[in-house]
Amino acid sequence: MRYSFAGLFILMVLVIAACISVSRRSDRKIGGAVSMLLAMLIPPIIGNLIIILASTKDTAMIGCYIYFIGMDAVIMALMHFSFCYCVITWPNRFLQYSVYGLITLDVVQLLLNPVFGHAFDTEPILVSGFDYYRLIPYWGQTFHRVVVYGLFSVVLLIFVVKIIRAPRVYVERYSIILAAMVLTGLWQTYYIFSRTPVDRSMAGYGVFGLLIFYFSLYYRPLTLLDRLLANMASEMPDAIFFYDVFGRCIWANRPAIDLVGIKDEKFDSASELLTAKFGKEPRMKDPEWTGTKVLGSGQDARYYYHSKRMVTDEKGKDTGFFLSIRDVTSEQRALQQERYNATHDSLTGLFTKEYLYESIRKKLDANPDEDYLILYIDIVDFKIINDIFGSTFGDRTLRQIAIILRHDLSGKALFGRLGGDTFGVLVEKSRFDAARLESQLSRFSVKDGDTERQILVHLGVYEVTERELDVPFMFDRALLAKMTIEDEYQTHIAFYDEKIRSEVLWAQHISAQLNDALKKRHVIPYLQPIVDQEGKIVGAEALARWIHPEDGFLPPSSFIPIFEKNGMITEVDRYMWRCACEILSGWKEQGRDLFVSVNISPKDFYFMDVAQELKDLVNEYGVDSGKLRIEITETVMMTDVEKRMKILEDLRQAGFVVEMDDFGSGYSSLNLLKDMPVDVLKIDMKFLSKTTDEKKARTILQNILNLSEDLGIFSLTEGVETHTQHRMLSEMGCKLFQGFFFAKPLPITEFEDFYQKNRAG
Ligand code: C2E
Ligand code: MG
Ligand code: MG
Repeated sequence: MRYSFAGLFILMVLVIAACISVSRRSDRKIGGAVSMLLAMLIPPIIGNLIIILASTKDTAMIGCYIYFIGMDAVIMALMHFSFCYCVITWPNRFLQYSVYGLITLDVVQLLLNPVFGHAFDTEPILVSGFDYYRLIPYWGQTFHRVVVYGLFSVVLLIFVVKIIRAPRVYVERYSIILAAMVLTGLWQTYYIFSRTPVDRSMAGYGVFGLLIFYFSLYYRPLTLLDRLLANMASEMPDAIFFYDVFGRCIWANRPAIDLVGIKDEKFDSASELLTAKFGKEPRMKDPEWTGTKVLGSGQDARYYYHSKRMVTDEKGKDTGFFLSIRDVTSEQRALQQERYNATHDSLTGLFTKEYLYESIRKKLDANPDEDYLILYIDIVDFKIINDIFGSTFGDRTLRQIAIILRHDLSGKALFGRLGGDTFGVLVEKSRFDAARLESQLSRFSVKDGDTERQILVHLGVYEVTERELDVPFMFDRALLAKMTIEDEYQTHIAFYDEKIRSEVLWAQHISAQLNDALKKRHVIPYLQPIVDQEGKIVGAEALARWIHPEDGFLPPSSFIPIFEKNGMITEVDRYMWRCACEILSGWKEQGRDLFVSVNISPKDFYFMDVAQELKDLVNEYGVDSGKLRIEITETVMMTDVEKRMKILEDLRQAGFVVEMDDFGSGYSSLNLLKDMPVDVLKIDMKFLSKTTDEKKARTILQNILNLSEDLGIFSLTEGVETHTQHRMLSEMGCKLFQGFFFAKPLPITEFEDFYQKNRAG
């Protein structure tokens, strides 16, 4: 029996030694404490081995010393291990040194036993024919036991408290160690009281050592549910790291292992590897947080969404946390693309209008002391460019402008595409060189195959003097400036100034008053006589005048162009036609055989059914449609030619006389004239004024008059100012005349007086 126990003890020592070497190599922090505890278990076992095998009393006594002093070392190592395992520290230094002192005192008193014989002795007893040395304890041995059992109880207490306080999933971790300790302790106590010659509880030490070894280093508290969750976590594409309450990584799934490169399931290394890959995370201490980290830059940039979440048990107690990391690069790219698409124009790659406005607002707010200019860039007649050269060329033109903007202004200004053929820029005033730009713009051309096409670009500039103004209004001002050079080919840049400003204010002022003015008849027709070759008045042109209660007498030039622009001209015209019908119906009663010409704006054709409107009016007033002459200008025929021709034809069918007004002042397409359904050609003398030499003027007039005669169209010259002009035109065959030579436009009653006198001769 002696030898079989000896064999068992030796085997235990070997197993423990193996465990020591494994735990020493472990990366886990607890590894050191485990290996120390295991090492300390060896002396008591060896002490016992010596006692069993001792053939002399002295050898047995040596075994006892090794055993008892070894026990002090065991209790010391056990405390160290427990503190590591339960993650606690000494509450204070005094307590720590008192315990160390107590153990040292015990060791010293044991060592003094050979001198005083106060601790223990041994005596041989015969068991199955062999001499065993049995222990005889004295008070020193009792002291030793009190010290060892006392400290052992403290360790047990620590585990009991841990079990009560710890979240449920950790209870297992503590209770298994506690159970092993209690069993080992009970077994040992049983041996002490049974006083059997061989200390079998030493076997318990071995088992205890193995349990500690396994539970501290290898065991992970996974219940069935935990396992299921862990399986789920393994399946997830996100990298997931699980941490215990102490902030140690205890597990990571496959993607996590691959992401940071965890080797041999050494999860402890996760924190370090994460820091190496993503940098130190300052919020790691925060209970929960999320954030996106970028690795690399530009096209190679990769985006990782991090999320730290706490895990609590059913009582709401912390049980650790997990960190999940998802590669969100593709989502991020899609988002960036979406943002880019929303903020950039697809054709030119420039900012969209909305994004430009937003960026300008930010820039203005961020730099309150900088002076800025707003530029409104417009391609003149872009529609015609598209129609004639094709939309591919049109697109190329737009892109070309974008390239120039990028080349000249990148980093210096904000710019974008405002719409079809317009671009907007915000530039620092000090960087704007108008002269240079002017010369650049005058040379602007775009390649179309082998040919370079000159493209006219106009630029309106508004100096941002009112910063609080909404950005769209700033562009409106730049646009207004640009509109002042609408018909110019030499000037490319125009600045918004006080004049434009007052014009705008004026336009707003009178537009707001128009309806009221029409109602109150502040707008009235003046009549300018039209005479025949004999000088007899045959009719009149109705021309609008505004007798403004505050601003006085307003000529049409101060309001007609404004209403032409904003479309309110329709109201004026409708009103003037009605006035003309009123006059005609009065004259009809008085038996005056005169006609009245009214003006029709090109805008009228957009906003109303001109023919129907006029037919209804003559019906309402019961006047002869032949007495209402209608003056249209060439611009009317610039768009929708077919449709407009039909309307004019319709009017002629209804008996109206259609006149082509201001012939000679605009494009004057003689070609158009031959197809035009007009009865009278109103030639504007003004276009032949002073500048042209008289001979030339004569030739041109003569030709126009001949042509109209050939086409069977009646001719009327307006703007006749002198007797000479009148005579000359009569000789050339012109039939009707209008101009200051005969009379200025007159108020109705004055006109009627004038007519009366004229008739009288
Ligand atoms: P318009 O239809 O060509 O009218 C003739 C203009 O020439 C009138 O200017 C008239 O006063 C002016 N005029 C007449 N004889 C002479 C002359 O011997 N020498 C010079 N230098 N000028 C002469 P006004 O009344 O200032 O009207 C200007 C323009 O405003 C008109 O040109 C017409 O296009 C427009 N307008 C006037 N009233 C109306 C209206 O009720 N509706 C529309 N749509 N336009 C109107
Ligand atoms: Mg006219
Ligand atoms: Mg005219």
